[in-house]
Amino acid sequence: MGDFALEAERCIRCGFCNAVCPTSNITQAFAPSKTSRGRLVMVQSILAGEAGFSPLSKGFLDLVELCFGCRRCLAVCPAGILIPQTMWRVRSAARKMGHPRPSWALRLFISEYDRMAPLASRLRPFSNRFIRTTIARQLAQWLVGLDKRAPLPDFRPLRHRPNRAQDEEGFVYFADVFGLFHEGDMVARLLRFLEMLGLRVVVPKQRQAGIPLLEAGLIDEAKRLARSNVETLYRHVEKGRKILTTSPSAYLSLREDYPRLLRTEEARVVAKNTVDAIQLLKQLHREGRIVLEGAGHVAYHSSCFTQATGMSGEIQGLLKTAGYEFSTHLACCGAAGMWGLLRENYDTAREVGQKLFGELEGADIVVSQSETCRLWMTSFIGARLMHPMELLLENAKSRTGASP
Ligand code: SF4
Ligand code: SF4
Repeated sequence: MGDFALEAERCIRCGFCNAVCPTSNITQAFAPSKTSRGRLVMVQSILAGEAGFSPLSKGFLDLVELCFGCRRCLAVCPAGILIPQTMWRVRSAARKMGHPRPSWALRLFISEYDRMAPLASRLRPFSNRFIRTTIARQLAQWLVGLDKRAPLPDFRPLRHRPNRAQDEEGFVYFADVFGLFHEGDMVARLLRFLEMLGLRVVVPKQRQAGIPLLEAGLIDEAKRLARSNVETLYRHVEKGRKILTTSPSAYLSLREDYPRLLRTEEARVVAKNTVDAIQLLKQLHREGRIVLEGAGHVAYHSSCFTQATGMSGEIQGLLKTAGYEFSTHLACCGAAGMWGLLRENYDTAREVGQKLFGELEGADIVVSQSETCRLWMTSFIGARLMHPMELLLENAKSRTGASP
């Protein structure tokens, strides 16, 4: 575990992380030892060689697997311990010692999804009809381990040709899989809007961000993706372009995970030059280049990753500026990326989300920055689910009155 063993040693057992860890919402599992601090204390005991603590014991590995990497604990730990990253390292170490998860099919699915999705995208609308069939659900459960009740996203790939007449510097878009294959219409609308303002956006060939690999403890595979993406994006940064994201997982990968994984100057430069669409809209509004308008009430879900990026306040500020009334909901929906979609986690994830689903009952529109939270919530609430940027763009205009 290298440096991460030292991370675990620094835990002072204050328990602040327990208060924010969504696994404390799991009634049958809740006990101080089953939340965030318990994981660190177990790692400490194992590293100290205490009798009865084994890194391959079922109790310990179950506790580690229960951490779904939401990163809420990072904001409150007074020792600044990288708790989820430590759990990834524990999983990676456990795999190297023979702990069998994940299956080869799941491994293939999470490491090569971005190479399989283009074919499924080309086969629309057949692929979109097929993923709704019982046989497809059962196959996904049997082969990959995705629970047959879990929602699967439609294929709606991104189609964008940059306008060459625009500013050459502009932006390079880093999507992750939803932006490229599942929410292409929404992203294309943003890119058209930016080009209308004179900001050129290029979309290079790129790999997926790779957070599911990290969460599965497949750190070497995640590093390969990180290297490939940093190499691509660095070339654009050298040409004076900023990197644009719309997904909090893409943003966190570039800003936090890649520099830690690769420890290279290029990864640090890429991190420094990454900006999210929310931050960009805020800047364009501050500069007087766009007008934001809106009316009515929406429920704003501040996802775990949005809280980790620190963009929650900016989203609320933009909704307010545009004229929306909104309620803010901080509870975790339980999905945790694709963790909740897996058969072994589905019921637990649903239980974690109960508090939030209750709060959102009766809402017409729910905005959430996280793509997997939106997908997951389609199963449990009846509201229209939108990215905050999507809502803001519905009535956004340039200073001259042009709309996307
Ligand atoms: S990352 Fe989330 S689930 Fe894991 S220990 Fe921290 S708060 Fe709990
Ligand atoms: S908040 Fe940090 S120091 Fe306190 S118990 Fe959790 S991991 Fe340990």
